[in-house]
Order: sequence, then C-alpha cells, then structure tokens
Amino acid sequence: MKKCRHLVFVLGDQLDEHSSALADFDSDRDVVLMAEVAEESTHVWSAKPRSAFFFAAMRHFAEALRAKEYSVDYRRIGTHDFASLVDVLADAIKHYAPDKVVMVEPGDWRVEQQLSAFAAARQAIKLNLVIREDQHFMCSRTEFAEWAKGYKRLRLEYFYRMMRKRHGVMMEGDAPVQGRWNFDAENRGAFPKGGPKPIPPTMRVAPDAITIGAIADVEAYFAEHPGTLDAFAWPVTRRDALSALKQFVDERLPMFGEFQDAMWTNEPFLYHAHISAALNLKLLNPREVIAAAIAALEGGRAPIEAVEGFVRQVIGWREFIRGVYWLEMPGLRESNHFNHDRKLPAWYWTGDTKMNCMRDTIGQTLKYGYAHHIQRLMVTGIFSLLAEVAPKDIEDWYLAVYIDAVEWVELPNVAGMAIYANGGRFTSKPYIASGQYIKRMSNYCSGCRYKPEVKTGATACPFTTLYWYFLDKHEEMLAGNPRTSLMAKSIAKMSVQDREALRAQAGVTFENLDKL
Ligand code: SF4
Repeated sequence: MKKCRHLVFVLGDQLDEHSSALADFDSDRDVVLMAEVAEESTHVWSAKPRSAFFFAAMRHFAEALRAKEYSVDYRRIGTHDFASLVDVLADAIKHYAPDKVVMVEPGDWRVEQQLSAFAAARQAIKLNLVIREDQHFMCSRTEFAEWAKGYKRLRLEYFYRMMRKRHGVMMEGDAPVQGRWNFDAENRGAFPKGGPKPIPPTMRVAPDAITIGAIADVEAYFAEHPGTLDAFAWPVTRRDALSALKQFVDERLPMFGEFQDAMWTNEPFLYHAHISAALNLKLLNPREVIAAAIAALEGGRAPIEAVEGFVRQVIGWREFIRGVYWLEMPGLRESNHFNHDRKLPAWYWTGDTKMNCMRDTIGQTLKYGYAHHIQRLMVTGIFSLLAEVAPKDIEDWYLAVYIDAVEWVELPNVAGMAIYANGGRFTSKPYIASGQYIKRMSNYCSGCRYKPEVKTGATACPFTTLYWYFLDKHEEMLAGNPRTSLMAKSIAKMSVQDREALRAQAGVTFENLDKL
C-alpha cells in the first residue's frame, strides 16, 4: 500500500487543470485517480463516438498531468474488472488509504447519488469524501436555487439578463450594448434555394497515437454499440480545443447568428462552433469562450446578432439548464406530462428511415456524435414528442449519441424543452411543428418520398400527420395558452370528416413507426 494525503478523483467530464479539486494538489503527497468503466458506457447504450471522445480526452488529460509530474493512477477500460466508478474508488481507497478523497461536483445526479451512498456505507471507516463546488460554471447550484426562488415559472430571459449584469458581459452601465438584450429575431434565417455559400470548415484533428488507442478500445469493448469511428477527428486536448475556438470565432462566427437555425443535407457542421463537447468536458472555460466572441464584436470582426446569440447560448441557456437540472432532479427524470409510452423507433439507432430529415440528422449523429441544436430540437426531438415516445427512451437516446452529452445538459434540454415532459416548468409552450417548418428551414424535403404539406394518404409526411393529430388531441390545452391558441384555432377549422381521416392516418403512422 502506498499511503497518500488526497486522492483526487477526476471524472471524465472534469478535465480542467484549474479545477477546485486540483487547487491544492501536492505532487509529493497526492494522487489523481481516473478511470474508464463499463457502466458509464452501458447505463445508456453509449454510441462509439461518445465513448471514444471521453476516453481520448481523458487519456490526453492524464498525460498532461503526468507531464507536470502529477502522480496519476489511470485505469483503462479492459485492464481492470471494476464495473463502476465507485468500485474503482473503493479499490483505490484500499490501496492509498487517503486522508481525504477530493473531487468536484459530478455532472450527473446518478453519479452523485452513488457517491453519497458509497460514503454513507463507509461511515464506520470515517471516509472523508470532500466534494468541491464546480467553479467551471459561472452560476453555482446554490446561486441558481437562490435566483429561482423569486419566480413561479423559470424563464431564460430573466436569468440571462441577470447573468449579463452580474458578470458585466456586453453591458454599458446598466444597459445592454447597442440597446437590446436579445437579437433572436435576427437568428432565424434559412439558406437560399441553392444552399449555403462555401462554409469555412470546422477544425478536424487527425487522431494521434493516444486517440487511436482510445478508438481501438471502444471498438474492442463496445463493438455492438451504435455509431462509427472512421470519421473521428475531434479536438480532444485543451490546446486543440483552443485552436478550434479561435477558428470558429475568426471564420464562422460572423455568419453564425443569421443561420444558426438553418439545416442543409450533407452539411453537418454549418456555421456552428462545435466546441460544446470541449466545454462540457471542461477543456475550455466559458469565460474564455465568451471573451473570444466579445473581442470579435469589439474588433468589428463579428456582428452583434452573431455574438449576442452565441453569448446567450453560453452564459444564458447552458448555465440556466444546468441550474434547472439540479433544482428539478430526480423528478425531471421521472416526468411524463403527456403519459407517452410508445417505443423509440428502432431507426433512431441506425438512421435507416425513408424520412430524409431524420435520416440526415441521425446519420450525421451516428457518424460524428454531433448535430446542431435545431436538428436536435426540431427534428429528432419534436418527432419523438409527436410520435408519443416514452420520455425515458428518447432521453436515453440523447444521452447516448452525442459526444457533448452529460446528463445535466442533456436531460433538461430533452425532457424540458424538446418533449415538454415536465409540463412547461421553464418553457412557455410545447415546441411542435409540422413538416412545413422543416421545409422552410432546410432542403430535406426535396427528394423525400413524403410531402411536407400532405396530412393524409400515401405521401403524407409523418411529421405533418402527427403534428395535426397532436393539435386534434390537445386542442383544449393549446387553446388555453396564449402562445399556442393560434394552433388551436387552425385545428378548430378542420371539418369532422377531415379530422376522422387525420386520426385514421395517425393510427396507421403509429402502428408503423418502425417502418417510416
Ligand atoms: Fe421530413 Fe416530412 Fe420533409 Fe420528408 S417531407 S424530409 S419526412 S419533414
């Protein structure tokens, strides 16, 4: 046994050398513990790109610490028999007999519960488990809970304004720069018929030996999991993540605002930043990310609507949903406002569907572990709501397939935003749309065997059929909400015969969800 003072347990989404857990690290007396365990790739059916991203980033981080002469005990998948994080921790405690186990708050309620139970079961040996605040975030869990006390319904806009004032972000005294808080109305452009102009490519990094090893291990130990790794080229180190941030700000940010909601076939990356995974694993800090965007605004290199839209995502939405997650768990995970219980169509795991929009979005998701926020919300998300999929099924899917998915970010976005499972605690209405929205915002519908404007019959678009069926089924609820009352009015105009035909078509669609 090698006795240590602090055993610092670093989880896969805590790859920050300046984290609170490492703040008082003493190379002579402390040890960092990191582990790849099967449970983190199997409690949901984690897609290969996601597991590879985590393993590659973790292995590089361990090497970066070792280069600074930190003592690191790194347990690779396949080199040990410990199934879960707490199993590894128990073994390491036996080995090092630490005075304290030190770590940062986990990003996942499930892991926090496991750790609490683990510590409680070791009262007899007086395990000293110290969980420090995650200072990566600009709003702590306690600060968010305090802020939320003042509101019956939580709304992003109020939180966002508070954050800008509190942190002095894009402010001129007490007023927002250029006199407006929000340029969302300028952020909804679609591409012209011919598609986007040539887009500056996102940064792709050829896998080095460490990443190649991580990829090989994922192929070996999770061979049956969904997704592919041939195209894996994500930045997995802090240095490369910083380069990716710089490239985004210099080359794509100026156009990001206008086209952030647009979609186009075979264009998986568009003008988006593609740094969410690096941010969520803490390779990047949100303060440096917004500073880079604001510097572009101040230097006249990016317009206000692009920079404000980007800043709103980082210090607004990202921090807001993290606060909501910790406030609402575990109830959020159990919520099912509409009592939906249908199975997720099998093609969510393969992309093998005739619906062009779903095939393109799911195809790129399984290939890269990435789709942008409108693809996630308005394509795969809304369809699962309209198809009445059980919330747990679709929540598990989102947590499994995206390389940036940690539960604090995934669950509120899915349960709260995409499928309205919590009945609108922090959104003012269910987000629903027909195929006509997808037609307006993309080119997916051209060449699709379904027609976005058709509700019934052989060419009916499943999105459109199920959208109108949702209006039919929930007419009263929609009529009672000022933000959806127009939808209720449009279904109210439909004749009895048309409604009957619509219900029959929806029945056929539900019966054949796996074959769409
Ligand atoms: Fe998707 Fe319907 Fe458009 Fe086909 S027609 S791409 S299914 S929205």
